[in-house]
This record gives sequence, C-alpha cells and structure tokens, in this order.
Amino acid sequence: MDVASHQRLNDSSKLPERDYLTGLYGLEYFYEQGERLLKSWRNCGADQQYVLIYFDIYKFKVVNDVFGVAEGDRLLKYVASIISDSCTINDLVGRVSADKFVVLLNTSTDVSTWIKHLLDSLHQYDLPFEIVCNLGIYRLDDKDNSLSTCVDRAILAQSTIKGNYVQKYAYYDESMRQRFLSEQEIAGSVNIALETKQFVVYFQPQFNHSTGTMVGAEALVRWQHPVKGLIPPNVFIPIMENTGFIFPLDLYVFEQACIFLRQCLDGHTPVVPISSNFSPYDIFQPSFVDNLEQIRQKYNVPAHLLRVEITESAVMGGSEKTNEVVHRLNKRGYLVEMDDFGSGYSSLNVLKEIDFNIIKLDMKFLRSDNDKHRGGTILSAVIGMLAWLDIQVIAEGVETLQQADYLQSVGCDYMQGYFYSKPLPAAEFRSLLLMRTISSLEPRRQLVEGLSGVNFWDPDSKETLFFNKFVGAAAIITYQDGKIYTERVNKKFLRELGMNLTEREIVKLDFAGSMDENNHKIYIDTIRRAIETGEEQECETWRNIHSGCCGDEHICLHSSITQIGQRDKSYIFFSTIRNVTREKMAQISLEDNERRFKAASEQANIYYWEYIVDTHEMHPCFRCMRDLGFPAVLTNYPDSAIEMGFFPPEVADMYRDWHRQIAEGLNHLRR
Ligand code: C2E
Ligand code: CA
Ligand code: CA
Repeated sequence: MDVASHQRLNDSSKLPERDYLTGLYGLEYFYEQGERLLKSWRNCGADQQYVLIYFDIYKFKVVNDVFGVAEGDRLLKYVASIISDSCTINDLVGRVSADKFVVLLNTSTDVSTWIKHLLDSLHQYDLPFEIVCNLGIYRLDDKDNSLSTCVDRAILAQSTIKGNYVQKYAYYDESMRQRFLSEQEIAGSVNIALETKQFVVYFQPQFNHSTGTMVGAEALVRWQHPVKGLIPPNVFIPIMENTGFIFPLDLYVFEQACIFLRQCLDGHTPVVPISSNFSPYDIFQPSFVDNLEQIRQKYNVPAHLLRVEITESAVMGGSEKTNEVVHRLNKRGYLVEMDDFGSGYSSLNVLKEIDFNIIKLDMKFLRSDNDKHRGGTILSAVIGMLAWLDIQVIAEGVETLQQADYLQSVGCDYMQGYFYSKPLPAAEFRSLLLMRTISSLEPRRQLVEGLSGVNFWDPDSKETLFFNKFVGAAAIITYQDGKIYTERVNKKFLRELGMNLTEREIVKLDFAGSMDENNHKIYIDTIRRAIETGEEQECETWRNIHSGCCGDEHICLHSSITQIGQRDKSYIFFSTIRNVTREKMAQISLEDNERRFKAASEQANIYYWEYIVDTHEMHPCFRCMRDLGFPAVLTNYPDSAIEMGFFPPEVADMYRDWHRQIAEGLNHLRR
C-alpha cells in the first residue's frame, strides 16, 4: 500500500496519529515520521533528495464564515485528497493545523509537475471565488538540519509571497534568512532605540513655486543607529508596522515636530505648518486623536500648525472609519493630507469618499508614465478636478525646474522635492525659516471663484478639459436679478438632451421662455435654495425645446445645482442634468391608466379585484368594499366568500370551478 492511500483512509480517522477530518498525519505524528525518514536518509547517504513544501489556504476563514463550516471541511478534504493522491510511499503528508499542510516530497517526483497539478486542481474547485494557496518550498540541502528547521525555512519562503495572487510559490534561499534576521534584529532593538532617542527627525520644506515662499514642511524620520549609522525609514518603517511599534514611533515624530515648533515660537523664528506621517495602523487606534491632542497641548502648539499625513492605503482599511478620523481631526483644527496620491488604484474614488483637505501628489505618477503626453493630460485633469472638489494639492518628489514649471502651468503651485531642498536636520531647517519668506496655502475657494473668470471660457484651459472629460452632462449657469442664463454646456449635456443642438443654440435659448410659469418657479426656488444653503439642490422641470431635427419637444430634466462662485450680483452655478422624460412619461401614463380605469369602473358598474392564485388571497376594489361590503383582504378565496354568503349556494360550485381553472392557467372567463 502506498503512502497516498494509507494516509487517505477514512477508517484511519480512528487512529490517534491521523487527522480526524482528512486522514492525513497530524502535527506530532508528521514530525515523528519525518524525523525517522530524515534519519534513514542521513544514514544511507543515498542520492535521494527531498523538498519540504508548506502551504495554507489564503483567507480560509472567509470560506468558513461565508459558506459555512461544512463547506470549509469539504475544501480541506479536497486539498488533502489532491496532495495525498499525488504522493508516493516515499513521501510524507500532514495537516499540521486548521488549513496548514506540509509535504515532505521525494524529488524522484517532479516537483514542478506536482505543484502545477495542485494549483490546477485548486483552480478547478467549485467555489465562487478563487482558492489561493501560496507554497513555500525548501530544498533539503543540508542533512544536519532538523525537520522543524526545514519547516521553518519553507514557512519563511512562503511569507515572502503570502496573499500574492500571481506568484503562487517561492523557493527558500539564504537571502531570505538574512533579511529575516536583520528584521528580527531591528524589531528587537526598536524599543531601546525609542527610549534612547536614536530616532531623529528631518524636515523637508514645501514651497509656492509662483512666489518662492515657504508654505509648510514634512517631518521625516531617520534612525541614527549607534553601529549601523543613519538608517532610512524605508528599511525600518515596514518592520515597525508589522510589529506594532509604529504607533509609538509616529507619536514620537509628531512630538518632535511640536517641540521644534514650540522652540521656534519661543525664539520668534517664523514658522510654517509641519506634516507628520501616520501609518494606517495608527489611525485605527481608538486613542489616536486624543493622543495627538495630549501631545499638542503639552507644547501648546496651535493645531493649524500641525498636519496629519495618511497614505492612500489607509483607506483600504475602511473609508468610513478613515473619514470619521478625518472629520474628528478637522474639528480639532488639524488639516489632513492624503499621501502618495496617484500611486494606488483607487485614487479617484477615494476623493469622493474621504474629505481630505490636501492631496500630496506623487511625482512618480508622472515619471512612471512612459507616455508623457498622456501622463500630463491625466495630471492636469486631476489637478482640475481637485480644484472643483475644493482640495489643495502639494506635488512631491519635484526634482527639476522643468517639472516645477510644468506643475505650475497645470495649476499646481505648491511643491516639495530635491529641486527646492532635501530633508534637513532641525537646525538647518530653522536657519532656512529665518532666511525665506513664509506664506500660507491660498484658500482654494479663490480658485473655484477663478473658474467664473477667463479660464472656464478658454477652450484650452484645464477647467474646460475637466468639464468636457470628467463630469457627466453638465452646464454652467448664472443667475442675476431673477433671470437665468446658460453660459456653457458640455458635449455630454447635448447628448443627454438628444435633440442634436449645438452649445451655441442652447446658450442662445430663452431660459424662462422654455418653461411654463410653474416649472420656472420650481427652478428659481431651487437656485435660491442652492445660494442659501451652499449645498447641492435638485429639481425636475419640464421644458419646451425646439430643434431643427426634432421640431418641438416637451422634455423633463432632472437638475443637480451647486453654487460655485459669485461675481457682483451674478451667481454662478454648476449643474448636472439627466433627461428623465421617458421615465416621467411612463409614470404619467401609469397614473393615467389607473385613473381612467377607476373612472370607467365607476361609470360602467364594473367591479374588479386582485386575486393571488398562490395564496388564495383576494384584494377587492373600492367599489367592491363600498357596494358589496367586502373587507380589504379576503383569505381562502373564493371559499371564504361563499361561506360568508357573498355568493349564493347555487353558484358556489361554478366559482370554485372558475378558480380551479384560473389556477391551471386560464386567463379569461365570461359568463
Ligand atoms: P513619503 O511620506 O512619501 O516621504 C517622501 C519621501 O520622498 C521622503 O523619503 C523624501 O526624502 C523623499 N523625497 C523628497 N523629495 C524627493 C525628490 O525630489 N526625489 C525623490 N526621489 N525623493 C524625494 P524618506 O525620508 O526616505 O521617507 C520614505 C518614506 O518613509 C516616507 O515616504 C514615508 O512613507 C515613510 N516615513 C518617513 N517618516 C515617517 C514617519 O515618521 N512615520 C511613518 N509612518 N512613515 C514615515
Ligand atoms: Ca509623507
Ligand atoms: Ca509621499
């Protein structure tokens, strides 16, 4: 009997060494058998080779939670059967805990084929989401290693690809161990490093490229290691994030920013707001905002001088929660920045979901795009959109004058990068503060109001580009002295109207003249509400529109209207529209039908009711209730009506027969 079959036995589940569910070896027995096998391998010195494969089922818990434990068990048994079926007497297979499997495979089996077979079989498994297993593989190259060392190495190899949907397996190599050891070393010395203040904070200034003034700075941490020298954050931040030390570290950096600002304020050095970085882990700590407040108050630094930088990936942890934190911080006076915008996938959605005050635009966004022209178009459109959303932008990683000029030309004035300055130690940064003129970020509102000026009417401006590309059917309208004017509409607006009109024709249309008095009043009221509340308002209005191709049309438009600016007595609005004529007509005709049917039934002495065949429920019409005294619902119809005497006994059977025929599918009866 081969190992495959003798490990798969169902009746073997009674044996203590067997895993009760899959019939594979359990943890202890696997180790016992494995050591025995390795011992004979060491002693015989034969040219047999082994690999140790370790894997688990990625997100196995989800299978259990979503599909139930029985489904989870079925999957485990399936996996166990695949691996045991593809093993021989010289191999060893174990389930070492819940969804974790270990295989000691003799290399007379072709390892690549074995892996491919396992992955293919998993791919075919019939669940509505992909079952992913990442395999860590260790080639047993040293006969002195114990089995548990071999397992550890396979686990280490697996940890480098865990959750990776593309790379499904990884072979262990020595560099993994070196990296692991140095990570362990870092993790082990972080605590002492924090206590002995080995972390130092540098400050990288941010500038307004139009005016050359300094507008802010970012605090960036470095580790001044007593032996290894200055270690950059990329080396230790990920480890700190994995070990939970990141929170105290980030609070420490924030405190250093507060101390720096306090010293400047006391010494009458001009100051700019300083941003500190916080990892996603931090912002989900319940005490996060309170911790910041305690530190800030300790040094009595105004909150508007402190900004909180959160990376885009924080949002993946839950946009609602992130938004809640952003609001709480805003309430206390901190501005919140989204770091590394443009590096992830969900950027544009994130902007809609979370009310960030400032976006840090990663210049890699532009640099990584081989097609420079396309990258530039995207960038300028994004900056245009941020203007609409009332969000400030700071570009970072700006290295050349050319980049800085380009950013400025597409509407981004604020920048941080080597072109202006590298991150500086506190003393140098303080000297710079004394030398440079300081200014603050201009309120974005002005930019939005700027839209009412030249830019919006310039066909090549970023506003126009955005207007045409990134919003739905939209119009810019103005309101002055009770009158409405359409200033601009985009192509999607014309398409939505569907009357083959040009923008010029729409602009020339007499707005008031296209509506009756009632609809005009509805529209004007909505405009007034938009001014009063400063928020988007909606309405539906009917208009009469004439076009050369369609003649006169009566159409209904759903409008969402937001005020975007004011010029003297003229108010400017952004409005998106939806042509809802067809829906409205359908609704009207439905209501009309119902009304007509009611009127007709009154006049023609028709009684009607609804009969639900499946439940034998009857819902009488108003006249049935009024004239015949039916209750609103009759169950067990028609028998209940017969019993109640609504139908005389001589027609009772006829009624029963009718309803039997109806149940069989007959849809018309006359008598
Ligand atoms: P980040 O937040 O995106 O910070 C900007 C990084 O870009 C900094 O690297 C900065 O030195 C670098 N940089 C600035 N200008 C230029 C430029 O013109 N060209 C190029 N190529 N790079 C530029 P740094 O200081 O090595 O920090 C790396 C990352 O480490 C930061 O990226 C941030 O994610 C993280 N980090 C730094 N300090 C902290 C901290 O206190 N807490 C947390 N959680 N993360 C931090
Ligand atoms: Ca940052
Ligand atoms: Ca960044």
